[in-house]
Amino acid sequence: PEQREVLTWDLFGEASRELAQQVVDSGFAPDVVVAVARGGLLPAGAISYALGTKVCGALNVEFYTGVDERLLEPTVLPPLLDTAAMHGLRALVVDDVADTGETLALVQRLVSQHCEEVRTAVLYAKPHSVVDPDFVWRRTDRWITFPWSAQEPVTARAGR
Ligand code: 5GP
Repeated sequence: PEQREVLTWDLFGEASRELAQQVVDSGFAPDVVVAVARGGLLPAGAISYALGTKVCGALNVEFYTGVDERLLEPTVLPPLLDTAAMHGLRALVVDDVADTGETLALVQRLVSQHCEEVRTAVLYAKPHSVVDPDFVWRRTDRWITFPWSAQEPVTARAGR
């Protein structure tokens, strides 16, 4: 699909509150919010504040190298989560989007090995995802532009 789905910072704020509301309405009360870094870091932070869940962690996974360009399979990068500390906890795994869903499937599998209960939340889900996340803000089949990765990294200003 040619046209992109654009998430603005304002809409991101609304989306995070809405997702947290879905979680609360479901009756699921997570002890820990796990971000799938880097894409899930901002949503996970916003959702953890909206839920009032202070304990957060992150798992670094690399899959995409560009627009629709990915590695053979998602790969977990160091540093790893403190899995011993997760024993018996209810975890909410948060990512920006479930596209193929392979990243979320991997993280869900890893976290389930240590936590008592695991639910997943994403801002967007695409129709062909191999996992259907528990909490979804919007569904689209377009490439999504997120506010945190819409621009190139900053570089040094000239003349300083
Ligand atoms: P998946 O494993 O579900 O295919 O996607 C893994 C990661 O790739 C997502 O968490 C996200 O960081 C990145 N990704 C997948 N689809 C998109 C997209 O439409 N837009 C952007 N900006 N990143 C995407």
